[in-house]
Amino acid sequence: MNFASNTVIAHRGAFKKNGFPENSIASLREAIRLGCTGSEFDVRMTADEVLVVNHDPHHGGMDIESTSYAQLRSHRLSNGEEIPTLEAYLRAGLQDNKSTRLVLEIKPSPAGKARGQLLAQRVWEQVKKSKANAWVEYISFDYAILTKLIEMDSTVVSHYLNGEKSPAILQAAGIKGLDYNYKVYQQNPQWITEAKVLGLILNVWTVNEPSQLEWCIRQGFDFITTNEPEYLLKLPAR
Ligand code: MG
Repeated sequence: MNFASNTVIAHRGAFKKNGFPENSIASLREAIRLGCTGSEFDVRMTADEVLVVNHDPHHGGMDIESTSYAQLRSHRLSNGEEIPTLEAYLRAGLQDNKSTRLVLEIKPSPAGKARGQLLAQRVWEQVKKSKANAWVEYISFDYAILTKLIEMDSTVVSHYLNGEKSPAILQAAGIKGLDYNYKVYQQNPQWITEAKVLGLILNVWTVNEPSQLEWCIRQGFDFITTNEPEYLLKLPAR
């Protein structure tokens, strides 16, 4: 793969500037059109085990995990799209896309760790079925979801989000990167150096303010996850 050489990961797609719904196919297509190196999105599972792309545990007042997909899709996004299935989202993400990674966040299941493991398995199966392996990098706050993915396929590229583990611990588990809140790096600046020495991918979320974006560029992060991809794309690289 030959992904774009910028640092920009559009958080929930490039939604903000054009008023697209977060995590919509429109926001994904816009991130690809802009040439971001990555577009991030969140995956959850319905009561009948359909994988859908949505940040919040609720959609249109319905709890995703305890509602069927047929019921969920009756409530549309503000631009008229149906709540995207992972299958549809991956299909849209592979279309005319040679430069944008698909940064797939697997949300910890509110129903507990066991359902999180099932979710990880189902997501991995769908990515394989969609032939999207080479485009997808996985992120999660749930450490056990990432280790489950690695157990199924040691070549997956995954980044941990929760911020309490050192780069050495992640590397030992086969996790390829850390993707922490920028405040975590400001409190643990040695992790930036340590990650670079170990060859881990350094990603940071969610950075929107100009002074914070410039701080991240100076630190030499590989990726910066932002709601302002258009602005970050215009800033000079380090
Ligand atoms: Mg997310």
